[in-house]
Amino acid sequence: MPLSDQYRVAPGTRVNLADWKTDDAEGVDRSEAEKRLSENILAMTHLQHTLYAERKQSLLVVLQAMDAGGKDSTIRHVFGPLNPQGVRVESFGRPTPDELARDFLWRIHQHTPRKGHVQVFNRSHYEDVLIVRVNGLVDRSVWSERYAIINEFERTLSQAGTTIVKIFLHLSKQTQRDKLAERLEQPHKRWKFEPEDFSSRAKWDEYMEAYGDALGRCSTSYAPWHIVPTDRKWNRLLIVSEIVRAALERMDPQFPEPAVDHDEAVRLLDQIP
Ligand code: ATP
Ligand code: MG
Repeated sequence: MPLSDQYRVAPGTRVNLADWKTDDAEGVDRSEAEKRLSENILAMTHLQHTLYAERKQSLLVVLQAMDAGGKDSTIRHVFGPLNPQGVRVESFGRPTPDELARDFLWRIHQHTPRKGHVQVFNRSHYEDVLIVRVNGLVDRSVWSERYAIINEFERTLSQAGTTIVKIFLHLSKQTQRDKLAERLEQPHKRWKFEPEDFSSRAKWDEYMEAYGDALGRCSTSYAPWHIVPTDRKWNRLLIVSEIVRAALERMDPQFPEPAVDHDEAVRLLDQIP
Protein backbone atom coordinates (compact mmCIF):
# COMPACT_ATOMS: atom_id res chain seq x y z
CA MET A 1 0.00 0.00 0.00
CA PRO A 2 1.45 3.45 -0.85
CA LEU A 3 2.55 5.54 2.13
CA SER A 4 -0.16 8.08 1.29
CA ASP A 5 -2.90 5.48 1.95
CA GLN A 6 -1.47 3.72 4.99
CA TYR A 7 -2.66 6.27 7.48
CA ARG A 8 -6.07 6.99 5.99
CA VAL A 9 -9.09 6.37 8.21
CA ALA A 10 -11.62 4.24 6.36
CA PRO A 11 -15.18 5.62 6.54
CA GLY A 12 -17.10 4.13 9.45
CA THR A 13 -14.00 3.29 11.52
CA ARG A 14 -14.24 3.72 15.27
CA VAL A 15 -11.00 5.48 16.11
CA ASN A 16 -9.18 4.81 19.36
CA LEU A 17 -6.03 6.89 19.07
CA ALA A 18 -4.14 4.61 21.44
CA ASP A 19 -4.18 2.06 18.60
CA TRP A 20 -2.58 4.47 16.12
CA LYS A 21 1.17 4.91 16.08
CA THR A 22 2.82 8.23 16.84
CA ASP A 23 6.21 7.00 15.72
CA ASP A 24 6.26 4.73 12.72
CA ALA A 25 8.93 5.08 10.08
CA GLU A 26 7.82 2.09 7.97
CA GLY A 27 11.36 1.07 7.14
CA VAL A 28 12.26 4.45 5.65
CA ASP A 29 15.40 6.00 7.12
CA ARG A 30 16.05 9.67 7.48
CA SER A 31 18.18 10.25 4.41
CA GLU A 32 15.76 8.30 2.21
CA ALA A 33 12.85 10.29 3.71
CA GLU A 34 14.54 13.59 3.01
CA LYS A 35 15.28 12.60 -0.56
CA ARG A 36 11.67 11.57 -1.14
CA LEU A 37 10.41 14.77 0.47
CA SER A 38 12.42 16.84 -2.05
CA GLU A 39 11.06 14.74 -4.93
CA ASN A 40 7.52 15.14 -3.65
CA ILE A 41 7.89 18.88 -3.33
CA LEU A 42 9.18 19.12 -6.88
CA ALA A 43 6.24 17.06 -8.16
CA MET A 44 3.81 19.16 -6.11
CA THR A 45 5.12 22.43 -7.56
CA HIS A 46 4.48 21.14 -11.11
CA LEU A 47 1.03 19.88 -10.20
CA GLN A 48 0.14 23.12 -8.46
CA HIS A 49 1.26 25.11 -11.49
CA THR A 50 -1.09 23.08 -13.68
CA LEU A 51 -3.94 23.32 -11.17
CA TYR A 52 -3.55 27.10 -11.13
CA ALA A 53 -3.61 27.26 -14.92
CA GLU A 54 -6.57 24.89 -15.16
CA ARG A 55 -8.79 26.79 -12.67
CA LYS A 56 -11.41 24.05 -12.56
CA GLN A 57 -10.85 22.49 -9.15
CA SER A 58 -9.26 23.28 -5.81
CA LEU A 59 -7.54 21.55 -2.92
CA LEU A 60 -8.27 22.03 0.77
CA VAL A 61 -5.83 20.62 3.32
CA VAL A 62 -7.06 20.62 6.92
CA LEU A 63 -4.36 20.34 9.58
CA GLN A 64 -5.16 19.53 13.18
CA ALA A 65 -2.86 18.62 16.08
CA MET A 66 -2.41 19.01 19.78
CA ASP A 67 -0.25 22.00 20.73
CA ALA A 68 3.36 21.63 19.57
CA GLY A 69 2.24 18.97 17.09
CA GLY A 70 4.20 20.60 14.28
CA LYS A 71 1.46 22.28 12.23
CA ASP A 72 3.51 25.41 11.64
CA SER A 73 6.62 23.53 10.61
CA THR A 74 4.61 21.27 8.29
CA ILE A 75 3.10 24.29 6.56
CA ARG A 76 6.51 25.89 6.16
CA HIS A 77 8.26 22.82 4.78
CA VAL A 78 5.56 21.21 2.66
CA PHE A 79 3.60 24.21 1.38
CA GLY A 80 6.28 26.93 1.65
CA PRO A 81 7.96 25.89 -1.62
CA LEU A 82 4.73 26.18 -3.66
CA ASN A 83 3.88 29.29 -5.69
CA PRO A 84 2.35 31.69 -3.12
CA GLN A 85 0.06 33.15 -5.79
CA GLY A 86 -2.02 30.00 -5.66
CA VAL A 87 -1.70 29.02 -2.01
CA ARG A 88 -3.56 30.45 0.97
CA VAL A 89 -3.04 29.56 4.60
CA GLU A 90 -5.63 30.45 7.20
CA SER A 91 -5.13 29.91 10.93
CA PHE A 92 -8.22 29.61 13.05
CA GLY A 93 -7.70 30.78 16.61
CA ARG A 94 -10.17 31.75 19.26
CA PRO A 95 -13.30 33.12 17.56
CA THR A 96 -13.82 36.89 17.69
CA PRO A 97 -17.10 38.31 19.07
CA ASP A 98 -18.18 38.86 15.47
CA GLU A 99 -17.56 35.21 14.66
CA LEU A 100 -19.24 33.97 17.83
CA ALA A 101 -22.33 35.92 16.83
CA ARG A 102 -22.71 33.58 13.82
CA ASP A 103 -22.92 29.85 13.22
CA PHE A 104 -19.59 28.01 13.60
CA LEU A 105 -19.06 27.52 9.87
CA TRP A 106 -19.49 31.18 8.97
CA ARG A 107 -15.85 32.09 9.46
CA ILE A 108 -14.67 28.88 7.83
CA HIS A 109 -16.70 29.19 4.65
CA GLN A 110 -15.12 32.56 3.84
CA HIS A 111 -11.76 30.84 3.43
CA THR A 112 -12.64 27.80 1.34
CA PRO A 113 -10.48 27.71 -1.80
CA ARG A 114 -11.43 29.21 -5.14
CA LYS A 115 -10.87 27.13 -8.24
CA GLY A 116 -7.18 26.80 -9.06
CA HIS A 117 -6.06 27.37 -5.48
CA VAL A 118 -4.63 25.30 -2.67
CA GLN A 119 -5.94 26.27 0.76
CA VAL A 120 -4.40 25.12 4.02
CA PHE A 121 -6.36 25.32 7.26
CA ASN A 122 -4.17 25.59 10.34
CA ARG A 123 -6.84 24.37 12.78
CA SER A 124 -10.34 24.47 11.41
CA HIS A 125 -14.06 23.86 11.99
CA TYR A 126 -12.95 20.74 13.88
CA GLU A 127 -12.04 22.95 16.85
CA ASP A 128 -15.79 23.22 17.31
CA VAL A 129 -15.95 19.54 18.24
CA LEU A 130 -12.56 19.51 20.02
CA ILE A 131 -11.67 22.40 22.35
CA VAL A 132 -15.32 23.45 22.35
CA ARG A 133 -16.44 19.99 23.43
CA VAL A 134 -13.63 19.35 25.93
CA ASN A 135 -14.04 22.73 27.60
CA GLY A 136 -17.83 22.59 27.48
CA LEU A 137 -18.06 25.91 25.60
CA VAL A 138 -21.43 24.83 24.23
CA ASP A 139 -23.86 22.15 25.42
CA ARG A 140 -23.45 18.54 24.36
CA SER A 141 -26.74 18.79 22.45
CA VAL A 142 -25.11 21.47 20.27
CA TRP A 143 -21.67 19.94 19.60
CA SER A 144 -23.02 16.43 19.14
CA GLU A 145 -24.96 17.55 16.05
CA ARG A 146 -21.91 19.11 14.50
CA TYR A 147 -20.35 15.91 13.12
CA ALA A 148 -23.21 15.47 10.69
CA ILE A 149 -23.23 19.19 9.90
CA ILE A 150 -19.50 19.09 9.15
CA ASN A 151 -19.93 16.08 6.86
CA GLU A 152 -22.64 17.88 4.92
CA PHE A 153 -20.55 21.05 4.72
CA GLU A 154 -17.58 19.13 3.36
CA ARG A 155 -19.84 17.35 0.90
CA THR A 156 -20.98 20.73 -0.36
CA LEU A 157 -17.37 21.76 -0.94
CA SER A 158 -16.55 18.46 -2.58
CA GLN A 159 -19.47 18.80 -4.94
CA ALA A 160 -18.21 22.24 -5.92
CA GLY A 161 -14.92 20.76 -7.12
CA THR A 162 -12.84 20.91 -3.95
CA THR A 163 -10.69 17.92 -3.06
CA ILE A 164 -10.46 17.71 0.73
CA VAL A 165 -7.59 16.08 2.57
CA LYS A 166 -7.58 16.11 6.37
CA ILE A 167 -4.48 15.42 8.39
CA PHE A 168 -4.18 14.86 12.11
CA LEU A 169 -0.58 15.09 13.29
CA HIS A 170 -0.53 12.40 15.94
CA LEU A 171 1.97 13.19 18.69
CA SER A 172 2.69 11.20 21.84
CA LYS A 173 2.17 12.85 25.21
CA GLN A 174 5.87 12.42 25.97
CA THR A 175 6.97 14.05 22.72
CA GLN A 176 4.65 16.96 23.42
CA ARG A 177 6.36 17.37 26.76
CA ASP A 178 9.78 17.45 25.09
CA LYS A 179 8.58 19.97 22.51
CA LEU A 180 7.01 22.24 25.13
CA ALA A 181 10.20 22.07 27.22
CA GLU A 182 12.15 23.08 24.11
CA ARG A 183 9.80 26.01 23.58
CA LEU A 184 10.52 27.17 27.11
CA GLU A 185 14.28 26.81 26.71
CA GLN A 186 14.75 28.45 23.35
CA PRO A 187 14.28 32.23 23.35
CA HIS A 188 13.04 32.26 19.73
CA LYS A 189 10.31 29.73 20.55
CA ARG A 190 9.10 31.12 23.87
CA TRP A 191 6.66 33.52 22.25
CA LYS A 192 4.54 30.55 21.14
CA PHE A 193 3.67 29.63 24.70
CA GLU A 194 0.22 30.28 26.02
CA PRO A 195 -1.73 29.11 29.06
CA GLU A 196 -3.98 26.96 26.86
CA ASP A 197 -0.97 24.70 26.16
CA PHE A 198 -1.04 23.57 29.79
CA SER A 199 -4.78 23.31 30.20
CA SER A 200 -5.12 21.23 27.03
CA ARG A 201 -2.23 19.01 28.13
CA ALA A 202 -3.93 18.48 31.47
CA LYS A 203 -6.99 17.24 29.56
CA TRP A 204 -5.00 15.00 27.23
CA ASP A 205 -7.27 11.97 27.57
CA GLU A 206 -10.41 13.99 26.96
CA TYR A 207 -8.81 15.48 23.87
CA MET A 208 -7.84 12.03 22.58
CA GLU A 209 -11.42 10.91 23.01
CA ALA A 210 -12.79 13.98 21.25
CA TYR A 211 -10.24 13.58 18.44
CA GLY A 212 -11.09 9.90 18.11
CA ASP A 213 -14.77 10.75 17.63
CA ALA A 214 -14.06 13.54 15.15
CA LEU A 215 -11.65 11.44 13.07
CA GLY A 216 -13.95 8.43 13.05
CA ARG A 217 -17.25 10.17 12.47
CA CYS A 218 -15.98 12.64 9.90
CA SER A 219 -13.74 10.47 7.76
CA THR A 220 -15.70 10.13 4.54
CA SER A 221 -14.95 8.97 1.03
CA TYR A 222 -14.99 12.59 -0.15
CA ALA A 223 -13.05 14.06 2.81
CA PRO A 224 -10.91 11.41 4.48
CA TRP A 225 -8.89 11.87 7.64
CA HIS A 226 -5.29 10.70 7.92
CA ILE A 227 -3.58 10.00 11.22
CA VAL A 228 0.07 10.81 10.69
CA PRO A 229 2.72 9.62 13.16
CA THR A 230 4.41 12.82 14.17
CA ASP A 231 7.02 12.13 16.83
CA ARG A 232 9.80 12.25 14.22
CA LYS A 233 9.80 15.39 12.14
CA TRP A 234 11.39 13.99 8.97
CA ASN A 235 8.91 11.12 8.97
CA ARG A 236 5.96 13.49 9.48
CA LEU A 237 7.06 15.72 6.61
CA LEU A 238 7.55 12.74 4.32
CA ILE A 239 4.10 11.30 5.01
CA VAL A 240 2.29 14.64 4.71
CA SER A 241 4.04 15.34 1.41
CA GLU A 242 3.10 11.87 0.13
CA ILE A 243 -0.55 12.46 1.03
CA VAL A 244 -0.72 15.89 -0.59
CA ARG A 245 1.18 14.80 -3.69
CA ALA A 246 -1.11 11.79 -4.13
CA ALA A 247 -4.18 14.03 -3.79
CA LEU A 248 -2.88 16.40 -6.47
CA GLU A 249 -2.06 13.45 -8.73
CA ARG A 250 -5.57 12.08 -8.34
CA MET A 251 -6.96 15.51 -9.23
CA ASP A 252 -4.92 15.21 -12.44
CA PRO A 253 -5.04 18.89 -13.45
CA GLN A 254 -4.57 19.70 -17.13
CA PHE A 255 -3.44 22.85 -18.88
CA PRO A 256 -6.39 24.52 -20.58
CA GLU A 257 -6.58 24.81 -24.33
CA PRO A 258 -4.89 28.08 -25.34
CA ALA A 259 -7.31 30.87 -26.25
CA VAL A 260 -5.54 31.39 -29.58
CA ASP A 261 -4.69 29.00 -32.38
CA HIS A 262 -0.97 28.29 -32.17
CA ASP A 263 -0.07 28.76 -35.86
CA GLU A 264 -2.25 31.84 -36.07
CA ALA A 265 -0.55 33.31 -33.00
CA VAL A 266 2.91 32.68 -34.46
CA ARG A 267 1.82 34.36 -37.70
CA LEU A 268 0.36 37.37 -35.86
CA LEU A 269 3.49 37.76 -33.76
CA ASP A 270 5.62 37.68 -36.91
CA GLN A 271 3.44 40.32 -38.50
CA ILE A 272 3.98 42.81 -35.71
CA PRO A 273 7.54 44.07 -35.81
P1 ATP B 1 0.74 26.47 18.15
O1 ATP B 1 0.20 25.07 18.03
O2 ATP B 1 1.98 26.67 17.36
O3 ATP B 1 0.82 26.93 19.57
P2 ATP B 1 -1.82 27.45 17.72
O4 ATP B 1 -2.50 26.78 16.59
O5 ATP B 1 -2.03 26.94 19.09
O6 ATP B 1 -0.27 27.45 17.45
P3 ATP B 1 -2.69 29.88 18.74
O7 ATP B 1 -3.06 31.17 18.11
O8 ATP B 1 -1.66 29.82 19.81
O9 ATP B 1 -2.25 28.94 17.58
O10 ATP B 1 -3.97 29.16 19.36
C1 ATP B 1 -5.20 29.09 18.80
C2 ATP B 1 -6.13 28.68 19.93
O11 ATP B 1 -7.45 28.94 19.51
C3 ATP B 1 -6.04 27.21 20.26
O12 ATP B 1 -5.96 27.03 21.65
C4 ATP B 1 -7.36 26.68 19.73
O13 ATP B 1 -7.83 25.55 20.41
C5 ATP B 1 -8.26 27.88 19.91
N1 ATP B 1 -9.44 27.80 19.06
C6 ATP B 1 -9.50 27.58 17.72
N2 ATP B 1 -10.77 27.51 17.30
C7 ATP B 1 -11.55 27.67 18.37
C8 ATP B 1 -12.95 27.69 18.58
N3 ATP B 1 -13.81 27.52 17.56
N4 ATP B 1 -13.40 27.89 19.82
C9 ATP B 1 -12.54 28.06 20.85
N5 ATP B 1 -11.21 28.05 20.73
C10 ATP B 1 -10.71 27.86 19.50
MG1 MG C 1 -0.78 27.44 20.76
